[in-house]
Amino acid sequence: MKFSQILIPTTKETPNDASLPSHIYLIRAGFIQGYSSGLYNMLPLGKIVLDKVRAIVKEELDNAGAMEVSLGFVTPSSFWKDSGRIDKYGKELLKFEDRHGAEFVLSATNEESMVNLVKGSIKSYKNLPINLYQINLKFRDEIRPRFGLMRGREFLMKDAYSFHVDSDDMIREFNLMEATYSKIFTRLGLDFRIVEADSGAIGGSGSKEFMILADSGEDTIKVCSSCNYGANVEVETGEVCPKCGDALNETKGIEAGHIFQLGTQYSDALDAKFLDNNGKAQPFVMGTYGIGVSRLLAGIIEQNHDDKGCIWTKESAPFSVNIIISNIKKEEEVAEATKLYNELKAKGIDVLLDDRKDRFGAKIKDFELIGIPTAVIFGKKLSDGLVEVVERRTLEKSEVSVDNLLNEVLKRV
Ligand code: ATP
Ligand code: MG
Repeated sequence: MKFSQILIPTTKETPNDASLPSHIYLIRAGFIQGYSSGLYNMLPLGKIVLDKVRAIVKEELDNAGAMEVSLGFVTPSSFWKDSGRIDKYGKELLKFEDRHGAEFVLSATNEESMVNLVKGSIKSYKNLPINLYQINLKFRDEIRPRFGLMRGREFLMKDAYSFHVDSDDMIREFNLMEATYSKIFTRLGLDFRIVEADSGAIGGSGSKEFMILADSGEDTIKVCSSCNYGANVEVETGEVCPKCGDALNETKGIEAGHIFQLGTQYSDALDAKFLDNNGKAQPFVMGTYGIGVSRLLAGIIEQNHDDKGCIWTKESAPFSVNIIISNIKKEEEVAEATKLYNELKAKGIDVLLDDRKDRFGAKIKDFELIGIPTAVIFGKKLSDGLVEVVERRTLEKSEVSVDNLLNEVLKRV
């Protein structure tokens, strides 16, 4: 894409209410735009990244055998009354009435909706197990929305719900989801820990959280110094690792995913049953699995930034290469830059061509702020057959001959 054709409103100004790097940079680099407390518009760059993250989540879940659906955003309050959760969830639920006085809530999570969906469509053990997920808007009227995408009121969540004949099979799926989440977080280039967790308002027993390690994290976790054990401090934790006996160290994490062994809590409450192989009605045994898809954008930047701006990881970056034309009035720079742009596009590489009329200094500043992994600069040395390649993470520069440029760039993406 061409910079001149996309809306990327970068700014030097730090928003008043922003303290975290991810909040500041996602706004300053033109990824998102706040318009009310806890509410954000995704601008073109934000939408591109969100779609990339969403695609990774979808790909890995589909590979694990889960199936995507899309539930309505508006849920009858009766669903939440039937499950007994309407009061427990409390003021985080945004409630309203339609013109006939019927009560509704905006989806904050969808256990009830999904149980009702399955109840209406699965009658027999022959159709189990099944894992259904959606990547959809959620609304929670958070008491203190803050930190940009980290704790919004409207946000994008991947929520999956699995249904089983017994708890052994549910635990098998729970372990599969743990492995699937690990693949997703690894592909996103995140440094994360899986920790034992409390189950909160959703209920259920065994539960684990996926924590992105970052000083700004709102959760305090204890992680083992030698094995991979970790626990949220909300859960009873001692000073030594229950797995290997070594010391536990306290650190901060951003909760980006949460997986639960639910059991029959919701199927019992909503009377959702299937016929087992003896023809006997049994409640579905459930698991539920969430990922904060929009929160991931903030988490990636909390872990990957410097004092100049964002540093996107390989698979999360809005573009792989940022081509900069130093001076748009120089025909040779325009011609050579456009040639590389077309060659990279032909290879299926996402590339941004900075073809704006602005000064070179402004373009470099925007490159550093936006955080695309590699820049290729067509400038003065082009007359000697040389261009400059810059790595965003290290800001390391190297001169590359134009003849060898395509290969050099391909090596880095
Ligand atoms: P938190 O403790 O941070 O409030 P939660 O326990 O309420 O999270 P879940 O109900 O398990 O979260 O929701 C699944 C995932 O959705 C969380 O792991 C998190 O990544 C994301 N999430 C939850 N609340 C928000 C929010 N207000 N803004 C953005 N993402 C959120
Ligand atoms: Mg919460």
